[in-house]
Amino acid sequence: MAKLTLRDIPVAQRRVLVRVDFNVPLDHGGVADDTRIRATLPTLQYLIQQQAKPILCSHLGRPKGKPDSAYTLRPVAERLRVLLNERLGGDAQVGFCPETVGMQAREMAQALEPGHVLLLENLRFQPQEEANDAGFARELASLAEVYVNDAFGSAHRAHASTVGVTQFLHPAAAGFLMERELRYLGDALGNPRHPFVVILGGAKVADKLPVMESLAHHADVILVGGGMAYTFLAAQGQTVGASLCEPDKFDFARGILARSDAGKHKFRLLLPVDHVVAAQLERGAAHQTVSAIPAGQKALDIGPKTRELYAAEIARAKTIVWNGPMGVFEIPPFDQGTVAIARAVAEASRQGATSIAGGGDSVAAIEAAGVTSQITHISTGGGASLEFLAGVPLPGVTALTNAGHEPKGGAR
Ligand code: AMP
Repeated sequence: MAKLTLRDIPVAQRRVLVRVDFNVPLDHGGVADDTRIRATLPTLQYLIQQQAKPILCSHLGRPKGKPDSAYTLRPVAERLRVLLNERLGGDAQVGFCPETVGMQAREMAQALEPGHVLLLENLRFQPQEEANDAGFARELASLAEVYVNDAFGSAHRAHASTVGVTQFLHPAAAGFLMERELRYLGDALGNPRHPFVVILGGAKVADKLPVMESLAHHADVILVGGGMAYTFLAAQGQTVGASLCEPDKFDFARGILARSDAGKHKFRLLLPVDHVVAAQLERGAAHQTVSAIPAGQKALDIGPKTRELYAAEIARAKTIVWNGPMGVFEIPPFDQGTVAIARAVAEASRQGATSIAGGGDSVAAIEAAGVTSQITHISTGGGASLEFLAGVPLPGVTALTNAGHEPKGGAR
């Protein structure tokens, strides 16, 4: 169901509560990585230029429902001011409210000038946020006249700021980042160009299992790498030495392998054919490439033949979804498989494929390979994008006003 977006609602002179995802890493009281702040700039720029009064709310870290100075959003307000100044070439006004709701928040929200921005303190300083408490949601809603959710990364959680607030504040529209995420991920599921190649890696089979189930209905090829591949190989009866292996997932692995072989859903599932193995997981550890994993050895990356095989599939793709690294990419030399796949995805994108990458590790690997700008869409929400791709409705999206169903007078 299409959702109302920011462009559909009048915002000039109005107080707009914007749920953003400013859950950024901090280092010595400063913002260590501002990617998530940058990702909201199109929405914020639009609101400022429309002379709206944006009141921003976000969580940061896990402060356990009480104020904790280690998780204050104050440094984020400062970085946001710098970034908006760069983008708008002007004197951006970004205020910070040291409380999330309460008298000061109400006063600062009321006093907000058109085109000025106010950032509220960390939502999770209140236990009612994660409890989706109606009273807290009402208080938050009372600060504004319209609601915009641009926090795709938090949309898989039913919290007061993502779901509860929409009971009290109409219309509830998707911000530009949310809209972009829904368009790319939605098209991949609902309207992919074929061949559609899915690349899944990472350590835990359990995390990727629902995505694999769901994408098996849409994809032409599923390429499996990373630690999760060894559960599949072991389930087929291959020896995997001391590699990661989850025997309780053998049944699932066999089930999906059988379906792919039987061609029921016309997808092919490919597993690594060679591996980089080592006795210990250590930087620069003695390692070798093998096609059969010796006893006591850990498979820590896909080998060169697998990289070539996977790259050939990727080169033919018109739609690519990638989640999870192909090996222990944080520790060289076990990063080579993931870097090779990142380059192959970038090259396919240059040739016209739509590529979507999600999950912090794949994104870090793409950055390490220096190909970030060539990927069509890098999803900001790891958990949310996995749930979306698994076909699970995201409560924060469901709660938004349906396009064409905006309340009377709410939209143009
Ligand atoms: P996930 O959170 O499930 O996407 O897993 C990401 C983690 O998987 C990264 O920290 C990788 O180091 C790890 N990983 C990838 N391949 C392997 C492997 N072959 N053996 C052990 N860990 C791996």
